[in-house]
Amino acid sequence: MNRPGICPNCGKDLGLFLRRDLYGSPFRTCPKCKKEYVDRRYKELAILPDGIDGEMSYIPAVIFLVVAVIFVIRGVTIGNYDYINGSPVTLSDQIIWYAIGGILFILAAYEFIVIKFGIKKKKLMREYGSSVFRLCDINYARKLSANGFNVPDKYLNPTGRDSCGRL
Ligand SMILES: [Zn+2]
Repeated sequence: MNRPGICPNCGKDLGLFLRRDLYGSPFRTCPKCKKEYVDRRYKELAILPDGIDGEMSYIPAVIFLVVAVIFVIRGVTIGNYDYINGSPVTLSDQIIWYAIGGILFILAAYEFIVIKFGIKKKKLMREYGSSVFRLCDINYARKLSANGFNVPDKYLNPTGRDSCGRL
């Protein structure tokens, strides 16, 4: 019952399977049963070991690009006869390969552009600020830790002047 995207209390499908950019508190409230559950797909940025930098990888863009190229090559080389299905290849068969390849190209370009031009970094810095703000509530920090999240000690045992501005 603890699959990501499924409420462990009532089993409601909460969707968002393909989203990779879920930031915020992993403690979510199910819209159906109104109970709280932990969704580990949500990233609490300030406790991630690599922080913002870890989210700035070009790897997803490269993967999209490689798969896009494979689809387009398949569309080009599909030939005139489909030996697997024993039927002539129609133009619409090729168009499907090109269309999927095209969508993946657009996704790759989008990923590349948002990272390259600092759009993603800007968003992540805002998310990071909210993340620190939440973690400055020691009860929240302790709750995360109790749920198995690796919370830096400065949020669990704040001493002196810290990032929360406490004295
Ligand atoms: Zn529920």
